[in-house]
Amino acid sequence: MSPCRHPRWQFRQFIAATSFILLVACAEKPTAASAVQLPVAPAAPAAQAAPPAAPAPADAAVVPTQSFEDWEAGFRVQALQAGITAQTFDRAFSGVTADPSVVTADRSQPEFSRPVWEYLEGAISPVRVRKGQALLAQNAELLTRIEARYGVDRQALIAVWGMESSFGQFQGDKSVIRSLATLAYEGRRPDFAQSQLIAALQILQNGDIQPERMLGSWAGAMGQTQFIPTTYATHAVDFDGDGRRDIWNSSADALASTAYYLQSSGWQRGQPWGFEVQLAPGFDYNLADGAIRKPVSEWMQLGLTLPVGTQMPAGAENLSAALLLPAGYRGPAFLVLDNFRAVLKYNNSSSYALAVSLLAQKLYGGGGIIGGWPKDDLPLSRSERMELQNLLSAHGYDAGTPDGIIGANTRKAIRLAQQRYGEPADGYPTHMLLESLRAR
Ligand code: CA
Repeated sequence: MSPCRHPRWQFRQFIAATSFILLVACAEKPTAASAVQLPVAPAAPAAQAAPPAAPAPADAAVVPTQSFEDWEAGFRVQALQAGITAQTFDRAFSGVTADPSVVTADRSQPEFSRPVWEYLEGAISPVRVRKGQALLAQNAELLTRIEARYGVDRQALIAVWGMESSFGQFQGDKSVIRSLATLAYEGRRPDFAQSQLIAALQILQNGDIQPERMLGSWAGAMGQTQFIPTTYATHAVDFDGDGRRDIWNSSADALASTAYYLQSSGWQRGQPWGFEVQLAPGFDYNLADGAIRKPVSEWMQLGLTLPVGTQMPAGAENLSAALLLPAGYRGPAFLVLDNFRAVLKYNNSSSYALAVSLLAQKLYGGGGIIGGWPKDDLPLSRSERMELQNLLSAHGYDAGTPDGIIGANTRKAIRLAQQRYGEPADGYPTHMLLESLRAR
């Protein structure tokens, strides 16, 4: 793993840019998800996520107006006002300089996106499933106690652990204080980075971890759970009882912290995440929008069927569901329930939530996806997405700012254009749509 490009972070940028996401409003780094099915901007994991904020222009140069030392001196005053002791601050900042690799990562805008099917294939690889099964067995007693306390299924916890840090193996190796100080000094979201930095200093002040061992991703996501400091503050727990909340070195603390976060995100004990469905010809694809939720029984009355050889999870009929089409109408379809939404609060990307859900399903001994992916239809590149937005707007379908982010406005514009051209209105950006707009 390159220290300056956390691979998972890159995944997230690739995936988030092209995949379908459930969220209320399109923010660059949304924390919560609930509504509209749409691809969004680079999304940090929610355990890592910033509060909704106006998207910062990714390629805008952020030119610091002062030296790092001057910034640090000013920030020190604020930190002390926030209750950080001079001793904590000075020890944490000893020898700290701005990290150029963090600045590069913060400003990177991947041109090409990884197809969702490739991402899922990697996420639920046989190796990962086997490792997850072994860890389920090794940690059976611990997981029983965590399930009893938080009501979150052990398979889901192991799946999140696998996705977040490959079961603790890849936690990021950058100094969290240095990364966040760099982002507060010259990142695109200085206020957010500064609040994370204060929270990180509080963790040090509590004695949960030593500064040199407080490592994480370039964006400040830490430990086996990849919590950002403010999420740590609210949801990290000391489950092994040694007096420290150690999500870096204690898998008991990490798994329990994950369980607590999912419980707080609305996890429903014993409920399924969702299940795969098939749509009848002529289905109204406008309904495939995370904002539209109906009881499963109503969805089934609209002509949804189960793939041959599959069964609806017991008790799912009366649960509230949204219809998810991760690759548009030509790909697989899923009805997703409350626990899927809880996972989205960890990381607001439907590809991520699907990966966690499918990995958990495999750990339960279940199967994978039955429907085929449109593998001839690769995701649009960033410049193609911007061109699509410009063309949509030029043709009278307002796609909002041409930023390459397929948010709510763009998705709505795509659906309108698709309806006009007699194509299924799934809101999914394709090369075919781009070409038909170019030709008009
Ligand atoms: Ca502990």
